Amino acid sequence: MTRSELLSYRSSVVKKRAMDLGFYGCGISVAGFLETEAPRLENWLLKNKHGKMAYMANHFDLRLDPTKLEPGTKTVVSLLYNYFPGHQKTTEEDAPNLSRYALGEDYHFVVKRKLLEFTEQVQDALGPCAGRVFVDSAPVLEKAWAAKAGLGWVGKNSNLISPKKGSYFFLAEWLTDMEMAADNPIPDYCGDCTRCIDACPTQAIEPYSVDGSKCISYFTIELKEAIQGVEPHVFKDWMFGCDICQEVCPWNRFSEPHTETAFLPKPDLIQMSRNEWKQMTQETFQRVFSKSAIKRVGYKGLMRNIEFLDSCKNKEKGSL
Ligand code: SF4
Ligand code: SF4
Repeated sequence: MTRSELLSYRSSVVKKRAMDLGFYGCGISVAGFLETEAPRLENWLLKNKHGKMAYMANHFDLRLDPTKLEPGTKTVVSLLYNYFPGHQKTTEEDAPNLSRYALGEDYHFVVKRKLLEFTEQVQDALGPCAGRVFVDSAPVLEKAWAAKAGLGWVGKNSNLISPKKGSYFFLAEWLTDMEMAADNPIPDYCGDCTRCIDACPTQAIEPYSVDGSKCISYFTIELKEAIQGVEPHVFKDWMFGCDICQEVCPWNRFSEPHTETAFLPKPDLIQMSRNEWKQMTQETFQRVFSKSAIKRVGYKGLMRNIEFLDSCKNKEKGSL
């Protein structure tokens, strides 16, 4: 076997294992410095588009080069994991909205379990190697790596978009010292479309750059203090995250429902009325969200969000 045949063989084994284990896509890149991302990231930070997410400004060099984050890394294996719940409703009719990705068990745990199984199986097939897996857990520019590996393009709404699968998936990486044949990027198919820009209720999107500090996800998840500087009605009743710029993206007509049972929502979550959300106790929060990504915002944070949305409803009632 020539070296090139060996690298191609490894890539095909890695991709087959990933798909057999239920990943939604798998692409491979040679690890190194992300040259075109460096000025973009610098500009984004200089314009303070990260708001109070101070961690985004940390580890600038590591973020741009996984060989610095994990010395010895030769290859970045990017993986997709579907979370699209289909067209089922995500909350009761009058209840505030919840981002689709947060309906079931916390993806950090679900995808991490899969990643560990995946790397074990690959090593069983190809021999031992060093490496680390990540799922939204380290300074890795996940979308840039997935795009480099041909899994999609980074759209005007800053999501990775697959021309065959849309954008409702998590991204994960395996940084490894095993060399493999790399994939090629695909073109950007956003074209003249501006649906996400037009639909964003906080005007957070400029083409290919989302102002994190204006995004509803930032206000409802990242911000630790009181929500200020924005009118409640623009939140469109989103209490945790926001899916609007994905809902309007035409490529999401290709999204297919996931098959991951861990992502199924607890029945009491989707059946809760607005009043039940508003009156939720800390005990109920612990019970319903014990394994959920919603725990990130905490009981107080979620109640802050719901009260903020309700201040809008109360204003509307007052003006009638
Ligand atoms: S998630 Fe919502 S608020 Fe954030 S950029 Fe997309 S549409 Fe705008
Ligand atoms: S809505 Fe249109 S412009 Fe926005 S990401 Fe999707 S295709 Fe691109």
